[in-house]
Amino acid sequence: MLKVYYCKSCNKIFYLQRETDISCKICSEPMIKLSKPYEEYTRLDEEERKEFIGQDIQKHIQSDIRKGD
Ligand SMILES: [Zn+2]
Repeated sequence: MLKVYYCKSCNKIFYLQRETDISCKICSEPMIKLSKPYEEYTRLDEEERKEFIGQDIQKHIQSDIRKGD
């Protein structure tokens, strides 16, 4: 199943099959793995996608902070 990754630096979405942390093909920054698989993500409309990505970025930031303790 394809996973959806998001690059904060490029503001781009990538669909990938690998599950490990992945660097952006364009800028080499680590990408965020979004919590919905490709099949669910593609069912969202543009507004829902923006909202969903925003929520996942927040979660990602919070988990990074916890890891840093
Ligand atoms: Zn990038």
